[in-house]
Formats: sequence, C-alpha cells, structure tokens
Amino acid sequence: MHSKKEVKNSWYPVIDYTNCTECGICIERCPHGVYDLQKVPTPVVQNPESCIDHCHGCGNRCPQGAIVYAGEDTGWIPPHHKTGKQSLGCGCNSGDHSEKSVLVEYLYLDLNTCDRCIGTDQKLEEVVSVLAPALKLAGYTVETRKIEIATKDIAEKHRFISSPTIRVNGKDICKSTSESDCGCCGKISGTQVDCRVFEYGEESFEVPPKEMIASAILQEVFGGSEMGCGCEEPDEYVCPPNLVSFFEGKEAKKVSCEGNCCS
Ligand code: SF4
Ligand code: SF4
Repeated sequence: MHSKKEVKNSWYPVIDYTNCTECGICIERCPHGVYDLQKVPTPVVQNPESCIDHCHGCGNRCPQGAIVYAGEDTGWIPPHHKTGKQSLGCGCNSGDHSEKSVLVEYLYLDLNTCDRCIGTDQKLEEVVSVLAPALKLAGYTVETRKIEIATKDIAEKHRFISSPTIRVNGKDICKSTSESDCGCCGKISGTQVDCRVFEYGEESFEVPPKEMIASAILQEVFGGSEMGCGCEEPDEYVCPPNLVSFFEGKEAKKVSCEGNCCS
C-alpha cells in the first residue's frame, strides 16, 4: 500500500490506482521531485509540497486519466478519463491498448459577434479536422473543448489572460500577450476592449494562421522534451483589468436593456 504523510501544500496529484497501469509517464515527466523515484514505475507521491500550484503536467499526460488533483478548482478533468466503458473482453490484456491523446482547449469571449473569436474557432476546427484523422493513425485521439469565458469567475477559474486563447495540453499556443483594440467586443460591452494578437514568425495576426495551430499541436504530440513539462511555476493570477471592464460593461448593458436584447 502507498503510505501517506502530512501534506502542507494544498495542490498535489492524487493517483487512482484502480486505473493506473504503472506506465511511469507521470514520474518521468515531473521535474519537481514530487514522485518517489525508488518506487518507479508505481507513482507514489512522496513530496506533495514540491508540486507546482495549478500544474496539470502529469495529469495531462496520464494515458489512463488516473490523476486528479487535491485542491482542484479550475474545472479541469483528466483528458484521458476512462468512462467505465472499457471492453468486456476476456481480460487477458495481452498488448498495450492504451490510447494517447491530446487536449485542445479553445477559450473565447464571444462566438456570436466577435470576428476574432469566430475566425479563430473556424481555423481551429479546420486544423483539427485535418490533423485528427492523421494523428489517429499514429495512435492519438484529439479531444477539443470549447469554453466560453462569460464571466470574471469563469476567467479566474481558467486563468484566462487574453481572448481568444488556444491551449494544447494546457499550454497556450501563443507565447506573447500582445493585444489590439477589438471593435466587436467593444460593441458587446460598450467599453474599450483589447483582444489578442497572435504572433507567429515575423508577423502578427488577429486570427491565428492554420500553420500556427497545427505546429503547436504537432509539437506537443511529437516534440518530446523540447516542449517542457508544462508545469512551470505559474504567476499569481489576476484577471486583466481589460477583461474585468468587458464583463462589467456586458453586465451593465444587459441590465439596462433588461435582458431583452443582449442575452
Ligand atoms: S501516468 Fe497515469 S497510468 Fe501512468 S503511472 Fe502515472 S498515474 Fe499511472
Ligand atoms: S508534473 Fe506538475 S502536477 Fe505533476 S507532480 Fe509534477 S509539478 Fe505536480
């Protein structure tokens, strides 16, 4: 059995040993000494206090969805989570049937009015529709999640910094946070709102080019350690004032029209 010790940190991985196949990926990918290397390949959380707050690095890579987090408050669920619909075959489990997957999250402010959000959504769908079948051949599934950042609370939950955002296995495909005035979101909120500008190569785009999205997905799948563990120490999150005024302005407009036109 796996021993427990008193934990001071409020964020650390919790292993579901009934699903864990002891592949050792989580231990291999954590550079922070959270797991007990003496117990490889069994994942034993030896140093929970070393785990990085709000890191999902090992959970995003567990092929069994066997990792959740103490202190989880982001709405994250294991991307490879088994639903209990496993095969009812003979149970001999002779080969390795574990399926690898990549989680693509799209976080946006508005898909009705905003040209950037709508354009990015379309580009992402086009890229995934092409890549998903090819990646399936390589044994990967691509799971796409779309999340409307409708309120400040939701923004905080997802540590949202700029709209729109695409994350691959939790990593933002755009390393910069350049923004420019977004007339569409300004109309929605009645405030001046800056939205994301995607920088790729030497150029800037209000809607990311397909090459940028595809490269980020392929890099995550095949880039190995070059992409890092994805559990860099996160900065303390504060919802950008730009977004706060967007949410407040949107709410104020809704109240002033009594929900008849802006809902
Ligand atoms: S990655 Fe998942 S299945 Fe593999 S050892 Fe860790 S918890 Fe178990
Ligand atoms: S990979 Fe990240 S979440 Fe997993 S144990 Fe290491 S620091 Fe914690």
